[in-house]
Amino acid sequence: GVDLFSLSGRRLRRLRPRMQMVFQDPAGSLDPRMRVEQIVGEPLAVHSVVRRGQRRGRVVALLERVGLGAEFLTRYPHELSGGQRQRVGIARAIALEPDFIVLDEPVSALDISIQAQIVNLLGELQAGLGLSYLFIAHDPVVVGHLSHAVAVMYLGKLVERGPAEAVLSRPRHPYTQLLLLSSPEPRPYARTERLPRAALSAEPPSAIHPPDGCAFHTRCPLAVPQCRRLEPVLRQAAGCGNGHVVACHLADELSPRAVAQALSAERARPAI
Ligand code: SF4
Repeated sequence: GVDLFSLSGRRLRRLRPRMQMVFQDPAGSLDPRMRVEQIVGEPLAVHSVVRRGQRRGRVVALLERVGLGAEFLTRYPHELSGGQRQRVGIARAIALEPDFIVLDEPVSALDISIQAQIVNLLGELQAGLGLSYLFIAHDPVVVGHLSHAVAVMYLGKLVERGPAEAVLSRPRHPYTQLLLLSSPEPRPYARTERLPRAALSAEPPSAIHPPDGCAFHTRCPLAVPQCRRLEPVLRQAAGCGNGHVVACHLADELSPRAVAQALSAERARPAI
């Protein structure tokens, strides 16, 4: 790999066309004073990729690639729906034919039906253009549709990482398990057994001053005294396949059923 922080401005500028970004808020990420043609054509102009006379044709091709067309060239962002704005943001991101795109919650601001269209579009582009995505999302169902590998973070730290199928169908960290149990159907991967729906209790602690030991211990239904003192490290737990690692002291013993049962027991406990 290349340490981007060590690169000078010129070398970084040469790399930038290969790395692009799609933002969470399609309205906020498009300049309201620019027409769609300028927005999508801007990276082509900045990096002098195509001659000025050919730029419009290239922009139209990009718009068609994301399900829009030449009739959108003269429109401003406020004349577009949320889904159309995000398509414009995606057209801008693929304009320079990048290798890698960071997708920062690209569908969370959209209606559920539009979310599915954008996720399908991202999947088509990924396969058709050979793109690598870093897809950031809170919804495991959406993550499961697009991802080959999944990393789960809690308070800014990785708590579980591995192949998408393994993490989403056989999660080992209690936080991952509770995320999946609290997500709406359909599940990203079929589960082997029915489990009661569950939700995280208690407010998350401060990410700036996380708790000692395991940062999840204040909300974990399975926490033991050791969890308050010792921070667990990512490791391959018993029964995990290659590349599937988890940061939990009890990972060798946990199953989705154990977490669900612990959560039910906690709920049933009378308040003092
Ligand atoms: S280390 Fe302890 S508190 Fe942290 S997730 Fe595992 S069981 Fe829960």
